[in-house]
Amino acid sequence: MPRLFCQDHPGVAALEARVVDSRPGAVLLDRSPFFPGGGGQLPDRGTLEWEGGLLAVVRLVPDGRGLWHEFDGEAEPHGMVMARIDGVFRNLMCELHTVAHVANSIVYREFGGALLTGAQLSADGTFRVDFDLPDIDPDRLRSLGGPINDALRQDFPIRTFRMPWSEAEATSGMFRSKSVSPPPQEDGTVRIVEIIGLDRQACGGTHLETSGAARPIRILKVDNKGRQNRRIKIGLAET
Ligand SMILES: [Zn+2]
Repeated sequence: MPRLFCQDHPGVAALEARVVDSRPGAVLLDRSPFFPGGGGQLPDRGTLEWEGGLLAVVRLVPDGRGLWHEFDGEAEPHGMVMARIDGVFRNLMCELHTVAHVANSIVYREFGGALLTGAQLSADGTFRVDFDLPDIDPDRLRSLGGPINDALRQDFPIRTFRMPWSEAEATSGMFRSKSVSPPPQEDGTVRIVEIIGLDRQACGGTHLETSGAARPIRILKVDNKGRQNRRIKIGLAET
């Protein structure tokens, strides 16, 4: 997949783009602010607007040429379109995703390099993270709310950069998922998200600019998912 515009410009919510290909119910744009979903982060919501109308994007499908924007109905967007994402929803995803990294970094550090076995952000201001933690008392995980909120309050800056995939693979802690490694980009690099002073890991999603821009959270639930996995459900404290 070509590099996503939103990975380098997460603050851009609207972008004028050209329709470069189309099929019934979908157009391929030459550039797009949309995040297609992945790594537990939900796809962006938003619209395409052009001279002939306005429609809601219902699905995003990346391929080797870029992002296909799918929609319901018979419309045929063409020429130049204004692609616009729902900025409130995107910001919520950035916030939850940032908190997920903070939680992940604390679990990784506190529990001997425990790896992630699943993650899913939700539109209701909650998310779940599953870890490979077969021998851990769930009460230890229930007490992680304090350390997570402390780390958010410290307001660490967050940046992204590219690292050669082979170097990331050889660096301990850079790939946090137990089962999937992120694919290398066409140029052989992988995108690293760094919470400066706290954590570095490969990730393709969108995040806040500092940890302190996230609201405080609370641990909602800790469950056993099979013998190996512990699932932690976390929510923004005020939701
Ligand atoms: Zn991430």
